[in-house]
Amino acid sequence: SIVTRFAPSPTGFLHIGGARTALFNWLYAKGHGGKMLLRIEDTDRARSTEEAVTALLDGLTWMGIDWDGEPVSQYSRGERHREVAKQLVEAGQAYYCYASQEELDEMREKARAEGRPPRYDGRWRDRDPSEAPEGISPVVRLKAPLNGETVIEDMVQGSVTFPNKDLDDLVILRSDGSPTYMLAVVVDDHDMGVTHIIRGDDHLTNAARQALIYKAMGWDTPVMAHIPLIHGPDGAKLSKRHGALGAETYRAMGYLPAAMRNYLARLGWSHGDEEIFSTDQMVKWFDFDAIGRSPSRFDFQKLENLNGHYMRSTDDEELAELFKEYLKAVDNGAEVLTWLETEANAQKFIAALPGLKERAKTLVELHESARYLWVQRPLDLDEKAAKLLSEDARALLGRLAPQLEALDIWNAETTDAVVRAFAEKEELKLGKVAQPLRAALTGRGTSPGIFDVLEVLGKQESVARIRDVAQ
Ligand code: GLU
Repeated sequence: SIVTRFAPSPTGFLHIGGARTALFNWLYAKGHGGKMLLRIEDTDRARSTEEAVTALLDGLTWMGIDWDGEPVSQYSRGERHREVAKQLVEAGQAYYCYASQEELDEMREKARAEGRPPRYDGRWRDRDPSEAPEGISPVVRLKAPLNGETVIEDMVQGSVTFPNKDLDDLVILRSDGSPTYMLAVVVDDHDMGVTHIIRGDDHLTNAARQALIYKAMGWDTPVMAHIPLIHGPDGAKLSKRHGALGAETYRAMGYLPAAMRNYLARLGWSHGDEEIFSTDQMVKWFDFDAIGRSPSRFDFQKLENLNGHYMRSTDDEELAELFKEYLKAVDNGAEVLTWLETEANAQKFIAALPGLKERAKTLVELHESARYLWVQRPLDLDEKAAKLLSEDARALLGRLAPQLEALDIWNAETTDAVVRAFAEKEELKLGKVAQPLRAALTGRGTSPGIFDVLEVLGKQESVARIRDVAQ
């Protein structure tokens, strides 16, 4: 059965490219009744941190991507990596190399002078270990084939050929006994039973070198799928400004996990002309043949529009839960979280959501536009609201207040009728009344539909807010 894996290096957050790689592995495994494993590639001790591991796991969890079994620490498997290196030496597939740093520098210099890529010249390849110099700890190098070619049959890139003369005898064990990345990846993927490797195409050359290690061990090479990287909207390498950010940043920007999954799935993969997929559909349809060969372009506008779609189509209770999760994760969420704790407030929020979610494309926008619900009287006014509340407007609201107060049945329709009749009597366009009314009720120049606001706030609070500014 199928086993995929996501193998991040814990040196930073779960960046957007990593999140997509994880998603593709997850979709493929889920769609084929397989498993997705998680391996933390923490062999770089100087750069790997515990916080980064936590950020990776949190990022995946937030995205709704789960994995099978416990995460595997690559570093903890060092003994096994050394054992395989030893086996390769014993089988004559690898050898100890005592070349000093000076010798290696010389080789590099020579290559540069001759205008060719640096390459280890194989000087210890066939030497007898008895010739080993004293006091030097050797590295272990793979005895790579000198002729012929290595072909990667890639599910996305097609058949990719590497002449073996370009693949020199790579180091698999350093002189301090630590495995190199190339060895560790192969041994781990083999031992973990990985059948499919799905990762960024920046690993394609590594794939050729790794294929040599598989071959030397007599192991089957997993199926490979190298996906083109994500670029910025300008076609250049993805920059921070254009989206090269961690999952927690997207979370703080108020994107929904379902929208992220949908958007990332479409970055590089397609299913006909469809843009909107449920997770079940993605799982069912995801496959390698519809992954493009050119880099995809990250587009914030598209993500935002898609997120708006998910905001509108998520039912109110669920959106309220997602909003709470968001509030817990952001710095300025505590106050509203506390406010939402009382049943009456939570209900008020749910009641306001249909009006709010029509306009908010992100949870950040929702946070801002729902503000009128929890602000305390007397309201602070933003610049636009202050301007709308001119002397005349305040006098106008003073005349409107008693009419609203006289209402017995309070909802969007009844308040609408009162305000309309009032505007007519005053010989004003509806907007001339609605705008200062909005400023009085929300403290802002823009807000959700004003009659929705009146209904949600209720009669007592609405009238009190109007009277606070009325003359
Ligand atoms: N740890 C590697 C990375 O973060 C991935 C290795 C792999 O997928 O084989 O780029």
